[in-house]
Amino acid sequence: MKLYDVIIVGAGSMGIAAGYYLTKQGIKTLLIDSFNPPHHQGSHHGSTRIIRHAYGEGRQYVALALRAQELWYALEQESQQELFINTGVLGIGEVFSPFIKETIESAQTYNLPLEILKANEVQKRWPGIQIPEHYVGCLETTSGILYSEKCIQAYRDLTLENKGSLLCDTAVHDIKMYKDGVTVMTDNGTFHSDKLIVTAGAWTGKLLPELELPLQPVRKAFGWFKADESFYDSKRFPAFFFALPDKLYYGFPSIDGSGVKLGRHDGGQSVDPDQINRTFGADDSDESDLRSFLETFMPHASGALIDGKICIYTKTPDEHFIIDQHPEHDHVMIAAGFSGHGFKFSSVVGEILSEITVKGKTKHDISVFKLNRKALHI
Ligand SMILES: Cc1cc2nc3c(=O)[nH]c(=O)nc-3n(C[C@H](O)[C@H](O)[C@H](O)COP(=O)(O)OP(=O)(O)OC[C@H]3O[C@@H](n4cnc5c(N)ncnc54)[C@H](O)[C@@H]3O)c2cc1C
Repeated sequence: MKLYDVIIVGAGSMGIAAGYYLTKQGIKTLLIDSFNPPHHQGSHHGSTRIIRHAYGEGRQYVALALRAQELWYALEQESQQELFINTGVLGIGEVFSPFIKETIESAQTYNLPLEILKANEVQKRWPGIQIPEHYVGCLETTSGILYSEKCIQAYRDLTLENKGSLLCDTAVHDIKMYKDGVTVMTDNGTFHSDKLIVTAGAWTGKLLPELELPLQPVRKAFGWFKADESFYDSKRFPAFFFALPDKLYYGFPSIDGSGVKLGRHDGGQSVDPDQINRTFGADDSDESDLRSFLETFMPHASGALIDGKICIYTKTPDEHFIIDQHPEHDHVMIAAGFSGHGFKFSSVVGEILSEITVKGKTKHDISVFKLNRKALHI
């Protein structure tokens, strides 16, 4: 029956970052996780995540992306590790596709460096790419790739150095909220705190059933394919996304011979995170969909499958995040529904959660992530 200032349920991408920023200020924090983060059961595994600043999902994310990038550099400094590779990010598609258009306009609005290239210029610069003449490329040289699991491990190590408490392999099965605190129940004990942060990823809806959160976990496949290193090595090839008329793919160059990693952002099968089939290839399309993209657009990267994994997106109806206080308990923060594009922001989301938990407010504009927005309740 220990008393903490703050309990964080879910020490994955968002939770561990919040734990770091809280414990750095000397806040007595307990983090509880069902597994042992970083792990392969949730949304953060597979080694790498893209960070972009010009933002196809909406220019309202740009300021957060820039702050997140600063915080990743700071984490590299403090942990003395390489967590980010500045490969740049290349976006490809029709100039009028909504995602490319918003990428370009968000760069213009915020004066971000974004080079627009014609199809023949793209193919000349990266002969591993094959695209129709009317496509364009948008190259952002300031962004690149985060090592997601290493980032989580770095925050975890520093949180423990800051005297945070971490209880792993312990699922929270019930939460009681009172006017002036919370009680969190697990099989390894019951814990009390003044404040609570719920960052349980794909399980957030199950943990807070009374809120009927519009969160849909989705099964997502991604794989690494043998590629011609002379075209796709990360020293010469950027991270990328292709906004096709009805599909959105993203991928990573071959890092130290890893092969090209590819995933598809849209689509996927709705799942229960406790029942999901985590075997890559359990569905034939896990590999065939990715391979057919590579054969068309990056033919020298469509070699043998090196490895494949299954991960979970937690989607909201409008694919924007939920970062807000509990509607009836303002000492409880909820951060979920990162809809397959949240990792890059986890540093700044941690900062935001710690600010609101400690001071009741944040310097960042998170008004678009409110729980009561109309688009969440359609
Ligand atoms: C294949 C794939 C590719 C992606 N690519 C990108 C990308 O390139 N760029 C990008 O920015 N984002 C990307 N994302 C999205 C990003 O990884 C997620 O948005 C982010 O990891 C979500 O963080 P989270 O903290 O909500 O979830 P998680 O990191 O999964 O953390 C949730 C934690 O809560 C714990 N938990 C759950 N229930 C309980 C409970 N009852 N008790 C205790 N603990 C509990 C879990 O064990 C887990 O550790 C991708 C996601 C996937 C799946």
